[in-house]
Amino acid sequence: MRLIMNCIGCGSKNIDALGTLGKLPNCNRFELSQQEALDLPKYELDLVKCSTCNLVQVGTHLPVIEVFSDNYPYFSSYSKSWLDHCKLAAKSYKEMFNIGMGSSILEIGSNDGYFLKYFNECSVVLGVEPTKGPAEVAIKDGVKTKIDFFNDDVAVEIIKDEGQFDLILSNNMLAHTPDLMSVLSGVRRALNDAGKFIVEVQYAADMFLGGKFDTVYHEHFCYYTLNSAISVFEKNGLYISDAEHLITHGGSIRLYASKQKIAKTDRLKNLIEKEFEQFSIGNVYTEFFIKAEASKNNFLKYINDNGPIVCYGAPTKGNVFLNYCGVTYKDIKFTSDMSPLKHNRYCPGSGIPIYSVDKIIYDKYSDILILPWNIKTEIIKQFNEYKIGTKKFITTIPELLVV
Ligand SMILES: [Zn+2]
Repeated sequence: MRLIMNCIGCGSKNIDALGTLGKLPNCNRFELSQQEALDLPKYELDLVKCSTCNLVQVGTHLPVIEVFSDNYPYFSSYSKSWLDHCKLAAKSYKEMFNIGMGSSILEIGSNDGYFLKYFNECSVVLGVEPTKGPAEVAIKDGVKTKIDFFNDDVAVEIIKDEGQFDLILSNNMLAHTPDLMSVLSGVRRALNDAGKFIVEVQYAADMFLGGKFDTVYHEHFCYYTLNSAISVFEKNGLYISDAEHLITHGGSIRLYASKQKIAKTDRLKNLIEKEFEQFSIGNVYTEFFIKAEASKNNFLKYINDNGPIVCYGAPTKGNVFLNYCGVTYKDIKFTSDMSPLKHNRYCPGSGIPIYSVDKIIYDKYSDILILPWNIKTEIIKQFNEYKIGTKKFITTIPELLVV
């Protein structure tokens, strides 16, 4: 564990504290023993902001090895809605930037290769992925993958073998690295002069304004607004010329950057203006922590009046919520998750057992807390297909809702 002294985006020492969610374990560790899950070490989960580039980041870093262990349970291919989103994105990039035969594509954080498969007609297709499990699946499926953390040194090695790239992609990875300046420097090195760097990352404006405090976790080292992304990229020799606001992952932004300074599109200028207005009203950061506290108190009251209950899903953000509220297996009997990798393991900190989805469908408990609230419609539809009308669904972000 270490407290950050320098901004991870620009290196500045001008760091201001914003607030804390208290001490939480690494919320993406699923142990085989309940006692081990309960005994996991806890680390401060606090947010700070660099006053030079405005990048919001966690104030306390876990050792990288703890964050990306070999049993990292996240395989991107498991979510159908995400795969549909990526298929459309690939089609759009090919049309916008004339990508096809003869083009070279690099993806940073390529997981099990699900996204790169949509580019298989290109001449060079390479993924870089630090987690061994997903990377080995990609290689087996024929997606060339380097098992490593992408950074400036790795970029030097890659260029020796593959040359520079026409397109570099990064989906939901740019918040996951404490080594941000080296990653961006590596991108600049690996990109053709006319190449594009396209990033999708969670949008901090949606997180702060929507009270989505469960998306703060140790594994997310930083939280981008357009303002801070533009500033951090420029410090590292990359220029954002266009952006889109997306609904994925509870609110994301897609950024289009290059090595050349290109005039900003009207679409980007409008988004910047809207963001500026949103952050001008009140103190967004103080209110964020007040909303988190209210959400916790309302949920604890609900459990007190209606408990014990059960959960659906065991995503990292769900475990942030449960730990922040201080609930355990005594309040929540079990959770059911789609991923077989998590079955018969225990949620970090709370010791809640994780079973298959069958368990929750046929169990007697009627109150179900949906932890992945961003896909609640999909989940409720799934239950309706089983024609079990006696279940009550609860979501808690940004406020308690019973459906
Ligand atoms: Zn900074």
